[in-house]
Amino acid sequence: MTIETDFTHDADATSWVESANGHPHFPVQNLPLCVFSPPKGGEPRGGVAIGDMILDLADIADTLELDAATAAQLASGPKLNDLLQRGPETMRALRHALFTMLTDDNHSKALESALYKAEDCDLYVPATVGDYTDFYTGIHHAENIGSLFRPDNPLLPNYKYVPIGYHGRSSSIRLSGKDVKRPSGQKKPAEEGGKPPFGPSARLDYEMEMGIWIGKGNGLGQPIPIDKAEEHIAGISILNDWSARDIQAWEYQPLGPFLAKNFHSTISPWIVTMDALAPFRTQQPPRPEGDPAPLEYLSDEEDQKTGAFGVTMDVFISTAKMREDGDEPHQLSTGPMTAMYWTAAQLVTHHSVGGCNMMPGDLLGTGTLTSGEEDGEGSLIELTQGGKKPIILANGETRTFLEDGDEVIMTAYAEKDGFARIGLGECRAVITG
Ligand code: MN
Repeated sequence: MTIETDFTHDADATSWVESANGHPHFPVQNLPLCVFSPPKGGEPRGGVAIGDMILDLADIADTLELDAATAAQLASGPKLNDLLQRGPETMRALRHALFTMLTDDNHSKALESALYKAEDCDLYVPATVGDYTDFYTGIHHAENIGSLFRPDNPLLPNYKYVPIGYHGRSSSIRLSGKDVKRPSGQKKPAEEGGKPPFGPSARLDYEMEMGIWIGKGNGLGQPIPIDKAEEHIAGISILNDWSARDIQAWEYQPLGPFLAKNFHSTISPWIVTMDALAPFRTQQPPRPEGDPAPLEYLSDEEDQKTGAFGVTMDVFISTAKMREDGDEPHQLSTGPMTAMYWTAAQLVTHHSVGGCNMMPGDLLGTGTLTSGEEDGEGSLIELTQGGKKPIILANGETRTFLEDGDEVIMTAYAEKDGFARIGLGECRAVITG
């Protein structure tokens, strides 16, 4: 798919919603979708972030025309699945109409009553996630984890041919801000052949990932070809795939992760659309010398040229003590989304190649995106070398894994010369006992 920019990406465009101008996440060039309920009460409904405000789509549907009006009507309910299902043209029509109104002062009077301060609103998971699949595209993460779990055999031979993934649990996906209860479970025995201890996980970890939202679905038995795959992607959010490493180490063979990851996953509130991301699309990094080329059904020249996302992700921790003392969160890592060994399009195509039908609102996790550079580890198990080497935080506290009261804060943004910076907001949650 060719990626094109248009008038909605003009870096000089400003909005009469003044907080949008220079906003680090939500300038008028972004316009991410969300589901919210306004401070005055009322049912959850679709909205769009603009600066510090949320624009109520249900409230303005009447003022829009054609596809844009359809889009706003489809976004009027408590979940955005019906809008996502309509695909890129309808999403684009909405973006164009909103951009035009939000940059033209003549519309300010009419729209003012449909704007709410975001911090006063309640936010919700924006779509019903029928199915959630977590991939494993971060090759540096796969190598790091593989060498901890299987020192002799870190990267299995299928990795460079198959986008590795597993079907996760959608019922436990929660919005940013919801506390995460530490899971209990069977843990790997200290000695081989021993009885597994049962109790609260002592090796609770986060995983820095991005979530890819499926838009238009496909029929059962009708695979999505690689050159059409992006038409089925609605946008991206930040995803934290909480992981209990001691439970994982005991249960993961032979069928992969289960209770170690199904207790809770956290998603950021905003779907940043493919159109908003257009200026930041970039080349898929070339495979290292000697790696096999992808099979034919995963190969597309255009996808290799523009299939990656120039998005930077940052992870912070704020312990209970840090919050008590008024300290700033401590940065744990930073890294680019281009750490994906497979493109988003390749994930969609592979997922459907056997005939699996993707549904609007399905969520694909990229897998932990460790950069391969210093400060680029996307999880604590990597940062602490399997829990053997504690990290020292700015206030002198140490951590191997997460303790009760710890808050993990993830954020992400895209920037490029000649374009307005956009952000994905935050994905955060506190661990409770
Ligand atoms: Mn994961």
